[in-house]
Amino acid sequence: MLFSAGLMCLALAGGIWYSSRGDAVEMDRRSWDQPCGCLSCSARYLTHVNLSDPRPWTCEKCGKPTAWPLKKCNDCKLVFVPAPIEPSAGADEPSRAPAMPACPKCGGVNSVGAALKEDVS
Ligand SMILES: [Zn+2]
Ligand SMILES: [Zn+2]
Repeated sequence: MLFSAGLMCLALAGGIWYSSRGDAVEMDRRSWDQPCGCLSCSARYLTHVNLSDPRPWTCEKCGKPTAWPLKKCNDCKLVFVPAPIEPSAGADEPSRAPAMPACPKCGGVNSVGAALKEDVS
């Protein structure tokens, strides 16, 4: 009896740890201020997006649907818009942002993260 109660505790603790991870917090938010960059007009600015907004977003500056989340390389401090992944020919799906883009300047992959508000101000 004691043994199984201990197992329950472990399972519970594991579940709490899992749901409180940093990634999960990001995904829970329904809208937020997002540093974004436009591939058409090269504008970079902070925009307010909703979770339900399809990407890429419509650029606030030029009106084209080519605004993507900005990324930042923490090695060489480059702030950039990763080249979107185009769907394969004939596939009926939109292009999407790469999950783990490499830095176009230093080629680093592991230190590329989301750009911060300060990076566009
Ligand atoms: Zn634009
Ligand atoms: Zn870099």
